[in-house]
Amino acid sequence: MTKIETILGTLPEAVSHTFGQGKPANYIPALAEVCGNKFGMAISTAKGRDFIVGDAEEAFSIQSISKVFSLSLAMHYAGEKVFERVGVEPSGNPFHSLSQLEYENGIPRNPFINAGALVVADILLSNLNSPKQDFLDHIRSISKNLDIQYDERVFRSEYDNGQRNAALAYYLKSFDNIKNPIAQVLDFYFYLCSLNMSCLDLARASRFLADDGRHPFKDKSVVSPLQTRRINTLMMTCGTYDEAGEFAFHVGLPCKSGVGGGIVAIVPGKMSLCVWSPELGKKGNSLPGMQALKTFVEQTGLAVF
Ligand code: GLU
Repeated sequence: MTKIETILGTLPEAVSHTFGQGKPANYIPALAEVCGNKFGMAISTAKGRDFIVGDAEEAFSIQSISKVFSLSLAMHYAGEKVFERVGVEPSGNPFHSLSQLEYENGIPRNPFINAGALVVADILLSNLNSPKQDFLDHIRSISKNLDIQYDERVFRSEYDNGQRNAALAYYLKSFDNIKNPIAQVLDFYFYLCSLNMSCLDLARASRFLADDGRHPFKDKSVVSPLQTRRINTLMMTCGTYDEAGEFAFHVGLPCKSGVGGGIVAIVPGKMSLCVWSPELGKKGNSLPGMQALKTFVEQTGLAVF
């Protein structure tokens, strides 16, 4: 057994004291119903080895983790132009905040807040022939899992509770920072949020970020090495809502979280990780997940600083 495998094996026990301290997301029933004390973690190394522990093969709602994959694909197609329409600064505001957009003239602070992700979804709509199918094919390809699907119930609930996202999209459109019909942008954005993947799928799918942008299973690139660095930088500074400073301080790895309780983390050049546990802290990040990443980094020394 490798050192990594041994440390991974200790994590379920090491985080167990955090169960019951947070709450699963409750803005839609499908997320609120998930059993709180699930815990899984997967690691995929740049050399192509996978390690898993706990519920690492159970699919869950990836929610905002999708923003990493949509940004990467948008950068693949549109390159630097993405950053003419979206900034690269942490927002310091809640992920669905409207107010900042007004005084910053419709340019979202970064691609990982909802306004930024809506612009990224719009860029993809302009570049993909069959946006949903093309995106799904891409995700299936980089995770090597043809069974990945979206969750129709989560998708519908995102619509039913999507008033703020709709408001953001209309607002962006008033600044001409949405080019496609708003209904299509929202539909695609909700679709991205409602994909179901496991920790193992997500660790594999994000391995290109630990490997200079190389597709994990094919002889081609997902993004360039420079784009890889930029995505990792954005994950470090903006990937975990209003808690990105805490994550950089305590974990020290580029991370992207979602309210489904998943967190993807990258050790550049070495490995990609995904941890999942549904109970969230006040800022919307998985509490056991954050604890697991902290412990992992303490024990392996694998932080970027
Ligand atoms: N579907 C959520 C929304 O746009 C994303 C939540 C998340 O940040 O994970 O409101």
